[in-house]
Amino acid sequence: MNRARRAEYLAALGLDAWVPRRAPASGSSPPAQEPEPDWEALRARVAACTRCGLSGTRTQTVFGVGDRHAEWLIVGEAPGAEEDARGEPFVGRAGQLLNAMLRAIGLRREAVYIANVLKCRPPANRDPAADEVAQCLPYLERQIELLRPKIMLAVGRIAAQNLLRTQAPLARLRHQVHSFGAGRVPLIVTYHPAYLLRTPADKRKAWEDLQFAREVHARG
Ligand code: URA
Repeated sequence: MNRARRAEYLAALGLDAWVPRRAPASGSSPPAQEPEPDWEALRARVAACTRCGLSGTRTQTVFGVGDRHAEWLIVGEAPGAEEDARGEPFVGRAGQLLNAMLRAIGLRREAVYIANVLKCRPPANRDPAADEVAQCLPYLERQIELLRPKIMLAVGRIAAQNLLRTQAPLARLRHQVHSFGAGRVPLIVTYHPAYLLRTPADKRKAWEDLQFAREVHARG
């Protein structure tokens, strides 16, 4: 994320925490710097989060799951009903298909890290609102800083558009190696497994994307 965008988010959040404060120009001793949260501190912040209205309707937050040393980060949209109930991303039908997609390229679910753009379920599974994304995305960004993945796979339009800050349709975002954030993590876009459950004819295209992602990972 570029500086200006990050500043925008931080301002929107009224956030003091994740950016080391500058020392005062002169005089008194510098204020104590809030450390960037580690995994456990971040998890606790997310669990207690009330930054948007979704905190009033969720059962629980859905932080993310997997190997904190994983090379692969899979990013989806937001928890659905089952994820909200269980506190883990992609555990419903779409999750079963995601697991199968990962297996198809030789990856076990436990060997990757899985998270969503939003940590809380939008009521009735509506699309995330822009302000909800603005409030929540810094959590995912910190997860990415901690994880330092070798490759990211954005599943579905919502994840892809929000991570890449674009309105481009998913079809235009496939077949490219995007770059995410200051760490320039290669990012590949494919279909959301829930979409593939509704449109199985496109599973072949998703398979192409996954093979492409595997190649990009192998190169890296
Ligand atoms: N869909 C998503 O995008 N994420 C989940 O965790 C579950 C379903």
